[in-house]
This record gives sequence, structure tokens and C-alpha cells, in this order.
Amino acid sequence: MISGIAYQAGRSDKYDAELDMLPGDRVRLNIDGIWVESALSELELGSDVGGLRLQVRFPQGQLFIPDDMAKVPDALRPKRGWLKRTEDNILLVLASVVICLLFVWLGYFHGLPAATRGIVSVLPDDVPELVAEQVMTELDKTTFQSSSLTADKQAELQQRFAGLVSQLPPMPFAPKLEFRSWEMGPNAFALSNGTVVVMDSLVALSKAPEELDSIILHELGHVYHEHVMKSVVRAGLLSVAVTVMTGESSGAIDMLAGAGTLVAVTGFSRELETEADAFSAQYMMEIYGTTAPMATMFRRLASSSDSGELPQWLSTHPDIDDRIQAVENAGMTD
Ligand SMILES: [Zn+2]
Repeated sequence: MISGIAYQAGRSDKYDAELDMLPGDRVRLNIDGIWVESALSELELGSDVGGLRLQVRFPQGQLFIPDDMAKVPDALRPKRGWLKRTEDNILLVLASVVICLLFVWLGYFHGLPAATRGIVSVLPDDVPELVAEQVMTELDKTTFQSSSLTADKQAELQQRFAGLVSQLPPMPFAPKLEFRSWEMGPNAFALSNGTVVVMDSLVALSKAPEELDSIILHELGHVYHEHVMKSVVRAGLLSVAVTVMTGESSGAIDMLAGAGTLVAVTGFSRELETEADAFSAQYMMEIYGTTAPMATMFRRLASSSDSGELPQWLSTHPDIDDRIQAVENAGMTD
């Protein structure tokens, strides 16, 4: 039995009332000694958003308002939207306000990159994983074919990859290596969850293991600096802000994955490519004591593009000569 107050249809007099749940999904209201019965499905359940209490309206017009929401069974509660869920947690609301103000402040005084960094740092942990899974699924469906590298070759490259990663600073995501093939030129991609996807044609293009390592290190530079999520967030700033505010990531994942696919295929901004080049050059020096294999690989990639497709991540930056120069300079300063 749920106690509360009730109004007769079209009347403003308030009565003490009791509501009972009956078998067969029926409810009965005792309003000042008068019994009213109705099927649960015929009740109109008012929203309790904004501090208003639950209002149960009977088809005959009576209105019942329970005293204590804690005693109201789920069947009598209106379907809850995200607004109510957010409201349930005042701390979350306050955090959202603070986060929004922070982004506005960052965006205003420090520009988009700072706002983007801020958002990336507070995104729920599962977002980069979910985005990467969807991007990979999409590319597997539309663009990639499975690798034709032998199991032995793949195992050997996996081992080299693990060896490389062990000599790098801690990564925001555990790096993973995947092999695929496609009809376009030699290439490699970084995904938001730390996965590096290497095309068979890139493996074929490299004539020494260090050459392939230099490109993998470049991709790991994207992973280290979280370039994928930063680019994806920048492309969908608004919907990500909503994700952060409501704590609900599922709605924005599709949109982020769309942006993620675009980023994977079209490459990063010039600034981020330079950052990834610098990461690769730094660790080529630390691990091999030279950046020469990296410059060689850049030249190979540039000339492979003469004979057909331009590798996407170079095509967005026609100044490959500048990049080779920068890599060689990085090798000489140490
Ligand atoms: Zn890159």
C-alpha cells in the first residue's frame, strides 16, 4: 500500500489517499473512502523531472501523488530519460558544469587544441576502445583484406614489435599490431586504442627490419600522443561534449567512429605528423643510433607514390622533402 494525497476529477479539494497494486497489473485507489480501480496500462504517469513528485492520473480523472517515492514500485515510475538520470546525481551535474566551463575557458584562452586535450583526458576509458573497434570493423568491411603474410612472418614481426614497445615510454593504451592488405599503396595506421595496422605492401617495401620499425615507431608516436582521439574529438567536438556531460557514451560512438574512419584514411594534420615523426626519430636514435633507415623509408614511400597511388599519410603533406630533411637533422644533432 502506498499512501499519498489525491484529487477527484476536476476538483481542487485534497484528500488523503491510498494506492494498492492488485494482481493482474491492476491498481486500486482509495480516495476518501471511494474506491477507483484501473488497469496499470491505462494510468498516465507524470514525469518527476525537476523535483516535481510523481503524478498518477487515472482514466476516470483522479490524480494521485505518493508521499514517499521510495515506496513506489518500478511499474508505477515513468520511463526515465537521460535528464532524470543526470539529475539523480547532483555531483555529476556539478562536474558537467565545471567541465563545460573548463572547455569554454580552454577554448577561449588556449584555442581548440587545449580544449581537445581537456576533453580527451576526461573521456570515459571505453570510448577509444569502442571507437577503434568500429573503425576496424568498418575498414575491414569496406577497405581492408586479410593479410597474406605467412604465420611465421607475422610471428616474427609481432616479436620485433613487442621488443620495440618495451624500449618506449609507457603508452596510454597497450600497443597491438595487426596485419592487413589493400589495393592502395604501402601504408600503416594507428587506431585510437593503440592498435597499429600495417599493410602487407609496407612490409614488402621495407628492405631492412629497421626501415619498417621506423614507420611503426611513427605510428606509435600517434598512439603515444593520442593523436587519433584528439583528431576525432576535434572533428566531433560538440557530440563529445554531450557525451562527457551526460556520461552516456553509446550515442556518440557512431559519430566518433565515422570521424575515426575518416582520420584513419585521410591522415592527421601536419602538426601531428611532425610530432609523430619526431617521436620516431627520437627512438630510432635511442634504439639504433641512427635515423637513416627512416629517411630511406620515407624516400621509398615517396618514390612508390610516383608509380601509382600516393600513400595517404604522405599525400596530405606534399612536403616530403622537408620531412626527410627534419628526420636527417634529428639524426645529426645527437
Ligand atoms: Zn602519421
